[in-house]
Amino acid sequence: MTQDELFKILVAHCKEYGFIFPSSEIYDGLAAVYDYGQMGVELKNNIKRYWWEAMTRLNENVVGIDSCVFMHPKTWVASGHVAAFNDPLIDNKDSKKRYRADVLIEDYLSKIEEKIQKEVDKGRKRFGDAFDEAKFKETNPNVLREKAHYDEVHARYKAAEDANDLEAYRQIILDCGIVCPISGTKNWTEVRQFNLMFSTQGSTTNADDKLYLRPETAQGIFVEYLNVQKTGRMKIPFGIAQIGKAFRNEIVARQFIFRMKEFEQMEMEFFVRPGTEMEWFRAWKENRMKWHVNLGMGAENYRFHDHEKLAHYANAATDIEFHFPFGFKELEGIHSRTDFDLGNHQKLSGKKIQYYDPETGESYVPYCVETSIGVDRMFLAVLSHSYKQEQLENGETRVVLSIPAPLAPVKVAILPLVKKDGLPEKAQEVVDLLKYDFAYQYDEKDSIGKRYRRQDAVGTPFCVTVDHDTLADGTVTLRDRDTMEQTRVKIEDLPAIIGAKVNMSNLLRGL
Ligand code: ATP
Repeated sequence: MTQDELFKILVAHCKEYGFIFPSSEIYDGLAAVYDYGQMGVELKNNIKRYWWEAMTRLNENVVGIDSCVFMHPKTWVASGHVAAFNDPLIDNKDSKKRYRADVLIEDYLSKIEEKIQKEVDKGRKRFGDAFDEAKFKETNPNVLREKAHYDEVHARYKAAEDANDLEAYRQIILDCGIVCPISGTKNWTEVRQFNLMFSTQGSTTNADDKLYLRPETAQGIFVEYLNVQKTGRMKIPFGIAQIGKAFRNEIVARQFIFRMKEFEQMEMEFFVRPGTEMEWFRAWKENRMKWHVNLGMGAENYRFHDHEKLAHYANAATDIEFHFPFGFKELEGIHSRTDFDLGNHQKLSGKKIQYYDPETGESYVPYCVETSIGVDRMFLAVLSHSYKQEQLENGETRVVLSIPAPLAPVKVAILPLVKKDGLPEKAQEVVDLLKYDFAYQYDEKDSIGKRYRRQDAVGTPFCVTVDHDTLADGTVTLRDRDTMEQTRVKIEDLPAIIGAKVNMSNLLRGL
């Protein structure tokens, strides 16, 4: 199965099992907007809890807030979003479809990489054990030709990006013969800048009363910095964390929940003494990578991508990339933002935003290190890594989501073997024992095998089967999702056995 096919299956699986639905589907959906279903909301809440508790409980100098989507319009002037939060866009005149010029070029470059990989795979097949990949890449004429073309386009693309040269983007698209995937033509418009913020009108008709839906949650933290520092008597270094919705008028409506118009962010701004920011930048890089790897989805699936080109406000930046089905892509951003945000808010608001440092006797605008991760991208990382089609020894296949147990939407399913002989009543007693601690499902429909498969498909770590022996000796069958092993355990031992694997506190202890 190709990664592309796997991705399509994953999207269908998400819908079939109540994880994610296209928004307003009865009206044929709304591009790049998705709703979370009954399973999805549980997984999403667990991801948020893992982040929130790791941030605000395990770091005694990080506190949380919950600020509003709407903010004073000047916020977005100070943050630079009004002037510079743009994407270069291009329209195809035949299909009337709009694209990001940079993404069209990046996709073209990815295709060249795929061609090179195909040549390498062919070589490996031909030469078998004797295959030397490095040598092959240095000598094979097809690979060399593709590589030279890649380097040339890549260099032009980087130059266009650095100079923000819209005409240069267009020329690359024309020279490479990039066509619209819908119309198949090269009938392109000019490239224009497109601001990604959604705006709406306040309660007056005054033009200054234009409100924006926040494109990031971070500005709510900066604007509340003084309140939190003073009322919380916070001493630098300290952090403010927030989880909330953000909105961007994304032009590229692809890749499912990877890039949406309405999404959620988990952001933390850590305020430090100027001059110490690099030390904290490194510390937070390490802290955040540990948080990811601690989930057990394979350290090899994450990597740092340090930015060479820095945003005007940053003096260091890196992404944590995850190995999604469509390649390594940004999951989280970590930026050293200097005093750009607080400094600009101080200027525009006219309010003094300074910290008196009792240790140095100086007052200054704090520097800031930011960690910013999308809840939805994290959701996609977990789901795409967890989805497996397994071939069983008896020749059957099973679909299982091996979601890290503390994040699983349902922790335990309670299943009476048959719907009679007092087994449902006994199973209800098990439900009453477990329901205060664990998200559970009770299911008595269909054969036990079918019920196990249903729970595998939503990633439930444990199934508890109540049978006739249960009535006699108070034991049940406990089935493990990953090994499919079944063991006989006493009902009263269930909370401890299940809790050891699924409790969030145990996951947090690993940090
Ligand atoms: P990209 O380059 O992929 O557009 P970005 O660099 O603009 O992302 P940031 O502004 O750094 O993203 O936002 C921080 C995080 O928010 C990202 O790492 C990502 O996880 C998430 N995020 C950003 N835009 C979206 C979106 N449109 N849909 C879902 N998640 C998003």
